[in-house]
Amino acid sequence: MSGQLEIPFPIGAKVWWSGPKYEETYETCPDCAGTRTIRMALGCGDVVELACATCTCGFDPPRGVVKKTICGYGPREVDLGNVEIYRDEVRYTAAGYTIDARELFTDRAMCEVRCEELRAAKQKDEDRMFLARHKSKRHDMASSVRYWRDQVRRLEEELARARAHVKTIEVKRCG
Ligand SMILES: [Zn+2]
Repeated sequence: MSGQLEIPFPIGAKVWWSGPKYEETYETCPDCAGTRTIRMALGCGDVVELACATCTCGFDPPRGVVKKTICGYGPREVDLGNVEIYRDEVRYTAAGYTIDARELFTDRAMCEVRCEELRAAKQKDEDRMFLARHKSKRHDMASSVRYWRDQVRRLEEELARARAHVKTIEVKRCG
């Protein structure tokens, strides 16, 4: 080891950064296919219809579409400011960010290739998160049906008990 460390770009250089770029899009709700209504078959064989929770946001009615954030990456030209070395990582300050030197390129085409790699990796994550969120909404819908059915059963039982009680009172009065 010579004790010298070469930095990949001189300070003040103009290079390409594979930085993040966010975009929001809407797509048809995967649960209700845009119909805003879900038909749910319960374990007991009954089929119930309810407002789709997957495409519902807050107190608004279902919209039939879901928002999807596309995290893109695009080449962005930056002026390199300070450089710092942390263990085996070289970082530059540019455009108000601290950027790993591995995300910087002198060639725009190479930067574009890296952006494509990052986009693909990020999309995988997004899809996984989207699926997880959407599974939990399905669970909420099923729980709500269960909850109200339980309420109905409980009230029916109470009503039956109350009727039976009324009958015994009437019998006593007549007898
Ligand atoms: Zn929906």
